[in-house]
Amino acid sequence: MITEDVEKYLTGIEKGSQIFLDYDGTLVPIIMDPELCFADNELREILKEIDRLYELYIISGRTLEDLKKFLNLNLNYIYLHGMFADLKGKTIEFVENSSKYFDTFRKLENEVRFPEGSGVRTYRKPYGFVIHLGLVPDSLKPEYIKQAEILGKEYGLEIYYGINLIELKVPGVNKGRAIRALRNDRKCLIAGDEATDEYGFVECPECLTIHIGNGKTAAILSVRNIDEFRKILKALIHRPDIS
Ligand SMILES: [Mg+2]
Repeated sequence: MITEDVEKYLTGIEKGSQIFLDYDGTLVPIIMDPELCFADNELREILKEIDRLYELYIISGRTLEDLKKFLNLNLNYIYLHGMFADLKGKTIEFVENSSKYFDTFRKLENEVRFPEGSGVRTYRKPYGFVIHLGLVPDSLKPEYIKQAEILGKEYGLEIYYGINLIELKVPGVNKGRAIRALRNDRKCLIAGDEATDEYGFVECPECLTIHIGNGKTAAILSVRNIDEFRKILKALIHRPDIS
């Protein structure tokens, strides 16, 4: 709906403005195998150009290794949901004592056991612990959710309620907080497709916030899918007054 009149929305986004873009579901489609989300060549060329004209940040829940592998570009990366940033080689930590949390999650991995045959699967991420309930009968899920909440309290962690999963995570870490720490006072553009991106939208109501997909959002604009969003990305690099 908006793509015919993109320039109107881009008002205030100037040369050098900050652009914060989520990766999965925003720049590339979500596919069955999350290990194969490589950027296509057109996308890589667009991002290179955006990085040249503006101040580009890729902001994602993924690890830095994943993002660099998929994009293979020297960009600013905010990774692990806003826990760290790599600003073209310079590392920034948005949380104090991150190594303490690394140990916490290792401890959870070693100590937490659910009964054999319960269907509960657990995974450790570098800075998170996932309790997956996809194979658990519905009637038993509330009990395991309760157990996860008790663990969260015991270890001082925040709980993220996903679809069929609970993730114990570092408290206070989110994309909005990372964006706030890096923001200058100019109007910026923030785009993303899911719940974690809403933190950024809420944090910057005066900016151009774009939600990809259907559903409720705090963003100013919604586009239906990645293809529509890519038209906006192309418009960013083909503006009469910016070169
Ligand atoms: Mg996403």
